[in-house]
Amino acid sequence: MAAYKSAIPTRRFDAVIVGAGGSGMRASLQLAEAGLNVAVLSKVFPTRSHTVAAQGGIGASLGNMAEDNWFWHMFDTVKGGDYLGDQDAIEFMCREAPKVVYELEHFGMPFDRNPDGTIYQRPFGGHTAHFGEKPVQRACAAADRTGHALLHTLYQRNVRARTHFFVEWMALDLIRDAEGDVIGVVALEMETGECMILEAKTTVMATGGAGRIFAASTNAFINTGDGMGMAARAGLPLQDMEFWQFHPTGVAGAGVLITEGVRGEGGILINSEGERFMERYAPTLKDLAPRDFVSRSMDQEIKEGRGCGPNKDHVMLDLRHIGADTIAKRLPSILEIGHKFANVDATKEPIPVVPTIHYQMGGIPTNIHGQVVTPTGPDNSAKVVNGLYAIGECACVSVHGANRLGTNSLLDLVVFGRAAGNHIVNSGLKAKENKPLPADAAEFAMGRLARLENSTGTETVQGVANDIRATMQKYCGVFRTDEMLNKGVEEIMKLDERRKHVSFKDKSMVFNTARVEALELDNLIETAKATIVSAAARKESRGAHAQDDHPQRDDDNWMKHTLWYSEGNRLEYKPVVTKPLTVDTFKPKPRTF
Ligand SMILES: Cc1cc2nc3c(=O)[nH]c(=O)nc-3n(C[C@H](O)[C@H](O)[C@H](O)COP(=O)(O)OP(=O)(O)OC[C@H]3O[C@@H](n4cnc5c(N)ncnc54)[C@H](O)[C@@H]3O)c2cc1C
Repeated sequence: MAAYKSAIPTRRFDAVIVGAGGSGMRASLQLAEAGLNVAVLSKVFPTRSHTVAAQGGIGASLGNMAEDNWFWHMFDTVKGGDYLGDQDAIEFMCREAPKVVYELEHFGMPFDRNPDGTIYQRPFGGHTAHFGEKPVQRACAAADRTGHALLHTLYQRNVRARTHFFVEWMALDLIRDAEGDVIGVVALEMETGECMILEAKTTVMATGGAGRIFAASTNAFINTGDGMGMAARAGLPLQDMEFWQFHPTGVAGAGVLITEGVRGEGGILINSEGERFMERYAPTLKDLAPRDFVSRSMDQEIKEGRGCGPNKDHVMLDLRHIGADTIAKRLPSILEIGHKFANVDATKEPIPVVPTIHYQMGGIPTNIHGQVVTPTGPDNSAKVVNGLYAIGECACVSVHGANRLGTNSLLDLVVFGRAAGNHIVNSGLKAKENKPLPADAAEFAMGRLARLENSTGTETVQGVANDIRATMQKYCGVFRTDEMLNKGVEEIMKLDERRKHVSFKDKSMVFNTARVEALELDNLIETAKATIVSAAARKESRGAHAQDDHPQRDDDNWMKHTLWYSEGNRLEYKPVVTKPLTVDTFKPKPRTF
């Protein structure tokens, strides 16, 4: 039986970063190279973070293979996000893109090359030249293992810069002092089961996404929304959580991702009649329309009875015409995934695919520097939460609006990871003192752990977690209705009650994954509540939120960001930033592709 000590050890750092994915390690590199004492916590070995699974590419208007510029990239991102993205942040990201990609190249990231030695770029969904006129090659790729190349490059640079890694450490909760400033985290060492306080002048959340709140997901098992849970429990809002991206091409039945890069290289989607149906829905971009658009079109085909297989429940991705040589060179992992997860030889047979949950557009609200912000008064002026930053998929800057373009996440990680790092360094952190630690600093987290530890409830962690996933899948899918969403809210709130009665039998300390999963459940439920409550309230269709009872986008009433608070399960809204930094506003227009 575990007995947790009331006084737990403390270590002190300039900065603590929770998460060793692309965003966390880009920020830590900036800090460590500036001579700060920085700790990076990760539930898994850093290079096993979900960023390693990114396949298709990182977006930047290098113009290596066709004329391109940051302004077209910005237009595509604003339009792709269905005008919910903040245009100041989008301009910043698209302008920074070439710089950060060249920087990665100079760090040694092994990009694929063109014959002239420049970085290879492939077309991707929603990437266009001349404001939507035709597809453009903007996705900088290392075969279909771009995230792998990126993450290993960043890890090696961090080792060189002497970043302290806390591997297999799980952050449980933020520590806020009486003034509301964040002064560190309480974390659990998975190997020993012991807890520690990590004091920090600045804490950076880089915990990635929460795709595991859905049953069919391309996400790693560790993507349980810990950052969102920690923020929600600390009284902070979560922004735009109703917007979840379904990737059009998860392997049917398995969920494993087939990169959009396959369609970038020329792959096409076909229905049971062998028809290339995207030509009907998106005459210009066809299979390379943005993901929300393609996923809905696929779902429509399946609904109208043109799905494939005995249950007519998926469509086919055909890449045979690309040719075995190109597939082997540019898409080697896809060949392997086809073999292992769909039992097909993709050079000879099409791959069965279905829209699968992939990415959260929402997250912890931040400004352009990565500082976490909350609205204060009726004028919604942003108030910075001192000592807290959020970057990567767990953050909402917001650059992706209501639907992210492929390759813009890897870009978001490095642009805002770097920007947050610079902002922290320039805030004069080195000269500052750590704020005093209140006597009850660890009480909240330790209380949560003790309740779990001593619970005699009859619910199991897996039982409740599986029901959360099934409920989200059923009531919060590609197409939504008022009735589905209201019912979904009811069901998730019942699960929130059930989760309070979970217990686990094995109380051993060393590498006890049952305890970790029980702690993760608290994060899954916060993320699920945020998602479905925000979705039920939004009475329009925008980007990835397709509401059959409100099929039109409603710019008069709904061009605003949702903020969900765990306390009181309540919602607030704040305006979209429509004014870019230097250029004119892109005004909302109907989205056709
Ligand atoms: C299969 C797949 C393919 C993709 N392909 C592309 C692509 O080609 N291009 C693109 O732009 N985007 C792609 N994406 C999206 C993109 O990869 C992710 O959005 C991005 O990698 C997330 O990075 P991150 O730094 O936010 O977090 P992650 O890489 O998910 O890392 C999260 C980190 O947080 C740690 N962590 C979490 N909780 C805790 C805790 N409680 N305590 C301590 N540590 C914690 C984890 O251990 C991990 O180190 C893809 C996503 C998937 C799933």
